[in-house]
Amino acid sequence: MLALCGSWLQSRIHKNDLVSTYILWDIDGTLIYNNSSAGSLYLDSIEHVTGVRPTQRVADPHGMTEGQLLAAILHVNGQDSGHLPEILSRLDELSLGQHEAGHTREPAVGTAQAIAAFASRGWVNAILTGNGPTRARFKVLAAGYCAEDFDWQHSYFGHLSPTRHHLTADARDALGENHAIIIGDTPKDGEAADTAGIPFIAVATGTYSADELRKSSALVVIDDFESGLDAVIDAVVDAIGSSSLR
Ligand SMILES: [Mg+2]
Repeated sequence: MLALCGSWLQSRIHKNDLVSTYILWDIDGTLIYNNSSAGSLYLDSIEHVTGVRPTQRVADPHGMTEGQLLAAILHVNGQDSGHLPEILSRLDELSLGQHEAGHTREPAVGTAQAIAAFASRGWVNAILTGNGPTRARFKVLAAGYCAEDFDWQHSYFGHLSPTRHHLTADARDALGENHAIIIGDTPKDGEAADTAGIPFIAVATGTYSADELRKSSALVVIDDFESGLDAVIDAVVDAIGSSSLR
């Protein structure tokens, strides 16, 4: 487990500033490495509710919100999307079961140091994910992060958002005149950041390579936070120093 606790307190020390800087972290492929367990949980949830386990895969699931992906799975398998609220609820129950069973996830390399470095500069670490809040919290905890290292009141969850664009638009509205930066691992993260006018930073610890992510509008693309932290800090400093970016 990582020794991450404490950066939340550091970030609070700087909160007297009128304008805060929110670093909005994606979870899958960004804070934690992807694995197949999430996909299995989706199928389990659908099977528990509908009695039928989907067999057809969604072509490009990366970067979808959870509700969007579940709806797509139901669609390609000819199942009724009206079950979605119940499936999302079941997904939370299964996530709780995993958490109580001691399920673990692997944190992406260098992220612990990045979280601490951002907090030491007074920037607020928060979450922006297509997951719901329950699953997001369990995933973060499963990877050894401290829940207190993230500002959950200024975190944004897209499980009910039709697309990631809706999620980022809601986050932009909620953060008002504060600075915001999105860190993510997929082109969809970048596209959704663009439509909301939020600067995007890409990390290649998920499914996409750095070369693929360079086709996005990312301020900077890094292989991982172990080698790329300094470049990210420079990019954030530049972004929040620009009057054209909030
Ligand atoms: Mg991701």
